Amino acid sequence: MTQEEYKIYIDNVIRRVEFARVRFDEKHIVKIVAISKYSTANEIEKLYRIGQRAFGENKVQDLRAKSSELEDLPLEWHFVGNLQKNKINNLLDINPALFHALDSLELAHELQKKLQARDMTLDALLQINSAKEESKHGVMLEDAVETYRQIQKECPNIHLKGVMSIGAHTDDKAIIKKSFETTYNIYKQLDGANICSMGMSGDFELAIECGSNMVRLGSIMFNK
Ligand SMILES: *Cc1c(COP(=O)(O)O)cnc(C)c1O
Repeated sequence: MTQEEYKIYIDNVIRRVEFARVRFDEKHIVKIVAISKYSTANEIEKLYRIGQRAFGENKVQDLRAKSSELEDLPLEWHFVGNLQKNKINNLLDINPALFHALDSLELAHELQKKLQARDMTLDALLQINSAKEESKHGVMLEDAVETYRQIQKECPNIHLKGVMSIGAHTDDKAIIKKSFETTYNIYKQLDGANICSMGMSGDFELAIECGSNMVRLGSIMFNK
């Protein structure tokens, strides 16, 4: 694809986001975070030249490599992967714009300690295991609101901005929809939350129709 063809292709993805957001609410605004985990720095730069600014990675070492390779560009880096305790310092060195996958009170406490020692803060989302899947990270639905409040109270250096969820792993649209609706309902109960991060390449329109205002699009943004 030439850069011109790529632009037309991306315009079409944006149009799909546009149609979905209007189906939810005319005033609803959705942000696209381009997940670059399968893409090179060169491919990220091509997307940047079309106007994309927010990018995300799911491995700390990839985030470090790509953000440093592209440090001359004004990009906003997100971290969407699960964070192991022994990688916390590496992540904080990069100081991402948003950490999407805070998935336990225990991790929050570890993060709080390191943030306090560095006298820095981190914007984060609480990851919710909305489909109750064994294989997935995140807090259980019934604990989500309580855990969110506890982190707000006990971890002053973590600035919680809302929730993140990965849609149910199934082809059944009704089940995926239910998992998004459930996450959105929790989001609405949280004081001061303004980010509901849900929807990936295969299910972003459904997620937006259920109230998502941040989609994490990997393969579709890079045409893979
Ligand atoms: C890879 C990834 C995405 C993007 O997935 P696609 O299906 O390629 O859009 C979104 N969120 C997380 C947490 C991911 O790891």
